[in-house]
Amino acid sequence: MAKKQFQAESKRLLDLMINSVYTHREIFLRELISNASDAIDKIYYKTLTDDSLVFERENYYIKIFIDKEKRLLKISDTGIGMTREELDDNLGIIAKSGSMLFKRENEGDSDYDIIGQFGVGFYSAFMVADTVTVVSKAFGSEETHVWESSGSEGYTIKSGEKELTGTDVILRIKDNTEEENFDDYLDEYRLRSIIKKYSDFIRYPIKMDITKRKLKEGSESEYEDYTEEQIVNSMVPLWKKNKNELTEEDYHNFYTEKHYGFDKPIRHIHVSVDGAVSYNAILFIPESPPFDFYTKDYEKGLELYANSVMIMSKCADLLPDYFSFVKGMVDSEDLSLNISREMLQHDRQLKLIARNIKTKIKSELDTLLKNDRDKYEIFFKSFGRQLKYGIYSDFGMNKDDLQDLLLFYSSTQQKMVTLEEYLSRMPEEQKYIYYAAGESVEKIDKLPQTELVADKGYEVLYFTDDIDEFAIKMLREYKDKEFKSVSSGDLGIEPEGDGKKEDAGQEGYQELFAEMKNILGEKVSNVRASKRLKNHPVCISSEGELTIEMEKVLRSMPMPHNQDVKAEKILEINVSHEVMTPLKKAYDEDKEKLALYTNLLYNQALLIEGLPVDDPLDFTNSICKIMV
Ligand code: ADP
Repeated sequence: MAKKQFQAESKRLLDLMINSVYTHREIFLRELISNASDAIDKIYYKTLTDDSLVFERENYYIKIFIDKEKRLLKISDTGIGMTREELDDNLGIIAKSGSMLFKRENEGDSDYDIIGQFGVGFYSAFMVADTVTVVSKAFGSEETHVWESSGSEGYTIKSGEKELTGTDVILRIKDNTEEENFDDYLDEYRLRSIIKKYSDFIRYPIKMDITKRKLKEGSESEYEDYTEEQIVNSMVPLWKKNKNELTEEDYHNFYTEKHYGFDKPIRHIHVSVDGAVSYNAILFIPESPPFDFYTKDYEKGLELYANSVMIMSKCADLLPDYFSFVKGMVDSEDLSLNISREMLQHDRQLKLIARNIKTKIKSELDTLLKNDRDKYEIFFKSFGRQLKYGIYSDFGMNKDDLQDLLLFYSSTQQKMVTLEEYLSRMPEEQKYIYYAAGESVEKIDKLPQTELVADKGYEVLYFTDDIDEFAIKMLREYKDKEFKSVSSGDLGIEPEGDGKKEDAGQEGYQELFAEMKNILGEKVSNVRASKRLKNHPVCISSEGELTIEMEKVLRSMPMPHNQDVKAEKILEINVSHEVMTPLKKAYDEDKEKLALYTNLLYNQALLIEGLPVDDPLDFTNSICKIMV
């Protein structure tokens, strides 16, 4: 029979599995059992929603068979089964998550990272087996089909025989090598402990024939072996168990088993509510974002169960966007099994649950912030951006939920601080909450604009995330204190002394500045003496809603109309700086030189601000002109 080829990516994943030196090969069993359990879920769901079918609990189970002689391990389920087409589609082509996996592999990650970070599903069988045979009889069909593959050369599908609806996955366990002992996966005791470890909460019985020993009949000292079928998992789902009986490890295993992520979650939240609406939920705050988290491919949502039957794998309505990183599941007796996606959106019970869950997550994060700052900072590093997006995209509507969860780097504390902490240190006379935006802490440290504020001893919050300033614009203020960019026109700070400096400066140079503005034309809206500069000769500040940092962010986006946005820029000159002497001289004696100096100073200010100079060639030519 002709072999069918695996789709290219599947073939590579397979090769990876076959040659894997991964130390946790045992997870193949978790993957296969979880597929079996999903298949039973599907048939269970069918019987619950179709009146002509009856569900008889005892007919639904998973059974593990071992044949040591032939080195076979069989995982058999009475689930929905697969037709010929489904065998071809599901096992010949890698799942979507798998394709991402390949990108990673090509970046040269080790096996460990790949297998550790992503679910590997069915193909993980090839970590322990050299041949995999799948015998399946689909629900409602009389035909059985057999899929078989011995690795990446391809697979065959032919007709076969099977009594019950469902699927048998048969593994020919690899022979032992010098480095590895594959006999483990044929060992009853070892298999049992793997099942206990990863699949204890699977809701259907996992059966095995367990070897026992008894006294031979009629004898008082001679023993004989016999086998007895036993259920080896405890079956009660984790969320129905009493919190006090569960350990951190139980939750962690559940997290991994459910494929919520392959990191170690920072926190779990186990909720059992009995009231206007009753539900159980287990929620996780992950430690690190999934690889696609900050892309549009990421789908938020919680698993939704009605009366312990899964009805939706990603119910988006249960989570606000700003908590989209939360993973987990909700099970409620108050939801109908037959509920459609559209109806669900308007479901009153579901809305209640969603509101309730939002409050729980918020208070959990509050607690984490208060009691375990280090962990919170890890969390914030991963998901702080999402919280800020939340403030921005909802026009600040959720600010009460979110503003106290924000952290920013502080100039005086030199670590991340909350707005509340900033406020508590603010001197009485300080009018605003000051911030400076830039690419990194190091770059902001060097911004001339921060000089005056820093000189006053005021704390400055550093905005290093693109989204920061946009989010803060939505907040406008925190507890009645407005936010103020250090590069905005009016800082609300009088310079030391009696304020003469600026007036005097303006007085003596008004005509010079007017001429400079003339030279620069539309590039700036004003040229004036600076109140904030101490050591630097020039800087650029902005007036109006749109700041220079925001201009940068908007322009870096690929939207065409963003290219036209322009902050209103002001060129500020430090009148106490020695550049004033040649500038004044040029104004009095040589207008051409004045134009040269003005353009140079303007471009300098742009560079300090991290903006591109208007015309690099012209700029460098100007420097040369001055040198000669
Ligand atoms: P995933 O489970 O992540 O979708 P897998 O590679 O493990 O990826 O499985 C691919 C698909 O094959 C499953 O989505 C399912 O449709 C089908 N499948 C796998 N095992 C079984 C099974 N025991 N019974 C029925 N269908 C199965």
